Amino acid sequence: MKTRFHLFIAVLCAALLQQAAAVEIDALPLDSAVPGGVALVPTGGHAISAQYRNNRVLLAEHEGVQYAIVGIALNAKPGEHEITLRLADGGQTHRSFTVSDKKYVEQRLTITNERQVNPNTEDMTRINRESAQMNEAFASWDEGLQPVLRMKAPVEGVRSSSFGLRRFFNEQPRAPHSGMDIAAPEGTPIFAPAGGVVRATGNYFFNGNTIILDHGHGLITLYCHMNTIDVSPGQRVESGEQIGEVGQTGRVTGPHLHWSINLNNTRVDPALFIQD
Ligand SMILES: [Zn+2]
Repeated sequence: MKTRFHLFIAVLCAALLQQAAAVEIDALPLDSAVPGGVALVPTGGHAISAQYRNNRVLLAEHEGVQYAIVGIALNAKPGEHEITLRLADGGQTHRSFTVSDKKYVEQRLTITNERQVNPNTEDMTRINRESAQMNEAFASWDEGLQPVLRMKAPVEGVRSSSFGLRRFFNEQPRAPHSGMDIAAPEGTPIFAPAGGVVRATGNYFFNGNTIILDHGHGLITLYCHMNTIDVSPGQRVESGEQIGEVGQTGRVTGPHLHWSINLNNTRVDPALFIQD
């Protein structure tokens, strides 16, 4: 009898865990199936998990419809893309979506500290260590947190440089701009745009004083070039709580917040998540 009861509890827990695979959300991000954008793909049912390019994808229920909310990489090729859904009965199926082309404009910046454009060997050791640390945080998947897909910008200021710009530092091509820049005076408070857990903090070579917040189910936000960091790794933060101040640490041309949003370990355009 005791064993049967335990079996019943185990099955109940498994069912609850499967339920937890999709979260109920109040608002969807904007649907923009372009490189660096987000595709809202109706699953047509109740999948328990979704995968795209070897990363787990956020599954959410909105007004009775389940969607896979897929972050599309800036280097994605236009055309048909496919996600794999795992179903409650153990089977799997696929859904496809079309990625349209998007041309991002060029931006040319002059950096006075030449080492921030062409780092030396010692700098490269540091950069590689730091990017491994950040990549680990970006790959986090926490089902205990409730992601929010429409949020206020974390700081008041002027949007000075948008996502996806093809960048040249001192006339040399570098990685495209993977976030949104908001210019504000040094010391302007930065607020968590959604609740979550601090996954990492550090003073990084390019990003300066940085915070990575995990909002659950692969939704992760990044805050760079800060003057001060007011939180520590593992700390739980509420939406609207101050996490630091705007600064100009790392590779910058002036004080601003570089804010980036990650879904399924992919940098996507934060503008798609900002509340009107
Ligand atoms: Zn930036």
